[in-house]
Amino acid sequence: MCIDCVKLNRRQLFSVAAGGLAATTLLGVDGFRSAARAKTTVTPDEALAKLKTGNARFVNAPDLCVADLAKTRTAAASGQSPWAAVLTCADSRVTPELIFGGMTLGELFVCRNAGNIADLGAIGSIEYAVEHLGCPLVVVLGHERCGAVGAACEVVEKDAHLPGSIGPMVEQIVPVARDLRGKEGDYIDNVVRENAKRSALKVIHSPIVEELMHHKKVQVVYARYDLDTGGVEFLS
Ligand SMILES: [Zn+2]
Repeated sequence: MCIDCVKLNRRQLFSVAAGGLAATTLLGVDGFRSAARAKTTVTPDEALAKLKTGNARFVNAPDLCVADLAKTRTAAASGQSPWAAVLTCADSRVTPELIFGGMTLGELFVCRNAGNIADLGAIGSIEYAVEHLGCPLVVVLGHERCGAVGAACEVVEKDAHLPGSIGPMVEQIVPVARDLRGKEGDYIDNVVRENAKRSALKVIHSPIVEELMHHKKVQVVYARYDLDTGGVEFLS
């Protein structure tokens, strides 16, 4: 099932309830408002184009990707109006502000955990970004040779047991790994792509996000980052 199909189904399911829910939620977290300033005027399509242009700059001319931090720190200190939210892996090589071409302070609203899992904290953070900060685009970004995904594959293939809280965390990727075991192609990479897709679907399952998508104020996409080339492949 593609993201558009889910969006359609959700729209049918929540067409009556979602408007009221979004309004209620807005009131419920009013205390967060002090962190926001005038929302961006960037559209979802423009935001996606900016990310693609930025990643092309990162791949082709990384020497140009230098953020003017002193200037932007001052400009962003009074509030934020990011134009893209990114849910990605905590992997130290997958830094959104860098791989999207040197984005600076106040531009990207970034949520990270091992395996870019759309858990409660990630979804709540994204809801805050799109509803309160006016973020027009959400990107779920998986990456090549993801360790968390690799661990989930080892749980499936070798019945691996992971220590501490790593096990329950990776358990959230294990259903994807189970579904793709034995499929054609690279096992881990197949799971990386599907895991990014399913995390994006979970984001869309948020009534707040769905309602904003229905009004074309928010777009949700998923992508894969190539560690070797630096390229981001948008998959939806
Ligand atoms: Zn990873």
